Amino acid sequence: MKKKADFLFSADENKFREALRDFLVRVDAQKIEQEINEQNYYPRELYGKLGEGGFLAQVLPVGYGGSGSLTCEAILAEELGASCVPLAWIHSTSSYAYATIARYGTETQKKKYLSAMKSGAKIGAIAITEPEAGSDVMRMATRAERKDDEYVIAGEKRNITNGSKADILLVWAITNPGVDPAVGMSVFIVEPEKGFEVLEDYKLLGGFPGTINSHLKFDRLSVPKENLLGGENNKGAKILFDELAIERALYAAMLVGEARPVLELAVRYSMVREQFGTTISRFEAVSFKIADMATKLEAAKLMVYHTTRLIDAGFNAEKESAMAKLLASEAFYGVANNTVQILGGRGVTDEYPAEWAFRMARLSMIPAGTNEIMRFIVQREVYKAYRRKRAGED
Ligand SMILES: Cc1cc2nc3c(=O)[nH]c(=O)nc-3n(C[C@H](O)[C@H](O)[C@H](O)COP(=O)(O)OP(=O)(O)OC[C@H]3O[C@@H](n4cnc5c(N)ncnc54)[C@H](O)[C@@H]3O)c2cc1C
Repeated sequence: MKKKADFLFSADENKFREALRDFLVRVDAQKIEQEINEQNYYPRELYGKLGEGGFLAQVLPVGYGGSGSLTCEAILAEELGASCVPLAWIHSTSSYAYATIARYGTETQKKKYLSAMKSGAKIGAIAITEPEAGSDVMRMATRAERKDDEYVIAGEKRNITNGSKADILLVWAITNPGVDPAVGMSVFIVEPEKGFEVLEDYKLLGGFPGTINSHLKFDRLSVPKENLLGGENNKGAKILFDELAIERALYAAMLVGEARPVLELAVRYSMVREQFGTTISRFEAVSFKIADMATKLEAAKLMVYHTTRLIDAGFNAEKESAMAKLLASEAFYGVANNTVQILGGRGVTDEYPAEWAFRMARLSMIPAGTNEIMRFIVQREVYKAYRRKRAGED
């Protein structure tokens, strides 16, 4: 009989999730996470091992070894998030790059780059943010100038996940400085070589083991003209907004996964910790926290899969992906914050992963666009829809 938790998913999606969970148990992903947390290394080889399971390329089209299903990719992000956070971060960011090549690449680019995703051999990154262009991406200053058969890229990118370790990076740059960046921006597939400089790998929020976040500099880095994504100049803004919708949905899926074991920890702990002659789960001040955590997390999960199904069906899901990212990061923060509280003094020590989860959850509100920007997008779309309705257009 179908389980309630599986109800929203097709038989194939449930089978995929089951097989993936079996695989993650077989490779002992949770132990890997523990080890990375203790030894703080970038698990590049382990990521390659994950490729052996054949699960990594869900965002790729069927002909390229994937399933072409963003919903399956979200299941992957969620399960990785629940079992091994550093591998989830490496993979998720990499998948945004590969998904974008799959959607916009020429046949030659797809043939050249996509096969490496399935094996986990080549890690991807997305380079948008700059020192002077964060939320306001249109302030981008990185330039790409055409010189004969090449583009020469100059500029800086900051806070780039996988940045210093990536094998391929999608780099957004201004190709026509004389016009609005919305029509003068392009994207390039960049392989680190001469002119690619790592200025710094950041230490994030007291330590975020196994994750790389870099400040990069491109000092007249040459890329062949064939590496212009999609082979078309000045299409960068359209590709950017499409990429961000996918990124936010998948990022939210990963956060839903990251929150799951933290909620379980709070439930488990509250059922064994006794005070005043009973387990603390008997106090409504504790169990109602559990109710709020579970409710918000479930809502975030539903929003994630609603969004991926819209994108899979070809709809624009800019509003929904912003909602999913907003809900998931705030649900995760609520789960982690309450878990620290429920664990009391134990919650702020490293005896349990609650304090680490709290730091991760706090951090999660910034990448993929801050939560303020998510609210900005949602309100803009709501007002837009209302104006259309009032004008009788809808
Ligand atoms: C862990 C991590 C991983 C990341 N990974 C990547 C990556 O792989 N690739 C990449 O390109 N970038 C990445 N980023 C960068 C991230 O996308 C930016 O940090 C984010 O978009 C915010 O930009 P900023 O840091 O410049 O902040 P700013 O844009 O300077 O914002 C500062 C504050 O002002 C607020 N603010 C700004 N504008 C508005 C507004 N219009 N309305 C209301 N409030 C506003 C913001 O919400 C924020 O609170 C990552 C960041 C982090 C922390």
